[in-house]
Amino acid sequence: MEKLAGLVMVLLLAAGCASSGKPVDLATVTSVDEPQPVGVEINPPTTSGAASQVPQCDPTASLRPGTQPQPGAMPAGSTMRAIQDRGRLIAGVDQNTFLFGFRNPTSNALEGFDIDRVRDVAAAIFGDPNKVQYKVITSAERIDALKKGEVDIVVRTMTATCERWADINFSTTYYVAGQRVAVDRSSAITGIDQLGGKRVCAAKGSTSIAKLRQSAAPPEVVAVDNWSDCLVMLQQGQVVAVSTDDTILAGMVAQDPNVKMVGPRFTDEPYGIGIPKQNQDMVRFVNGVLERSTANGSWATSYGKWLAQAGGAATPPVARYRD
Ligand code: GLU
Repeated sequence: MEKLAGLVMVLLLAAGCASSGKPVDLATVTSVDEPQPVGVEINPPTTSGAASQVPQCDPTASLRPGTQPQPGAMPAGSTMRAIQDRGRLIAGVDQNTFLFGFRNPTSNALEGFDIDRVRDVAAAIFGDPNKVQYKVITSAERIDALKKGEVDIVVRTMTATCERWADINFSTTYYVAGQRVAVDRSSAITGIDQLGGKRVCAAKGSTSIAKLRQSAAPPEVVAVDNWSDCLVMLQQGQVVAVSTDDTILAGMVAQDPNVKMVGPRFTDEPYGIGIPKQNQDMVRFVNGVLERSTANGSWATSYGKWLAQAGGAATPPVARYRD
């Protein structure tokens, strides 16, 4: 009897569900806007000057270091002394690029290969790698932050190019990356030549966008503020590929096993530390710091920690000077 009562209850409930309220008519939902990252633009106009207008140069050749002052004893009147007197180095960095400049979610600290370079510079000025005020900036904000003097240095996966040398100074090269393509693990795309007319993501103000435009089969460029926006758009199927430095893509592959890198490198991206144009003493000083980091194993330790797993064994690039 009890069982029967239970069955009747279930049937009544089921009937109630079926008859109460109107079912949603899916046919009336005609379009749902997919959520997109703030600031996304499709095929934005090029901001960089035409390559032909830029004077030829060797973008990897920087200024020779002099005698390095001891930490805490920066020469009077120098850019480094002004930083020492201020009590902190102001560095423009990324917080969205795993392995280079990202925020550790446990400690909330910024970490990565670029952050280690900042810490080396701070240690050389103060004897303390922590005396840094980090300013998180996008790819597109790097040059302006330096020109306006908002930061002392930019260490942010930044390729030294002749066009950028016209506005700022670069240190010697501390790493050479190369542009490649990343796609979903199930994708049949095997390289840049198969991306013509397809939606490909890259960050605004990056060399990556310019290179995609120069491709024999140009894709539809989806330009965003941060590289992490590209990863999310790839995960959501809103773009078929992300194309930028293999270093940045290696970070995405490490974060998401459904992402794979395909095709060979098709550019050279020599990373330099950006420094305001007028601060030549700082350029020589930073180059001295980079020389020391090569000699004392700091570069190698940092490489081993962040990049060796993706990039294999490597040695620091040989410094090139133009004076
Ligand atoms: N290395 C390239 C550049 O400096 C891409 C990396 C980036 O935008 O963060 O433009």
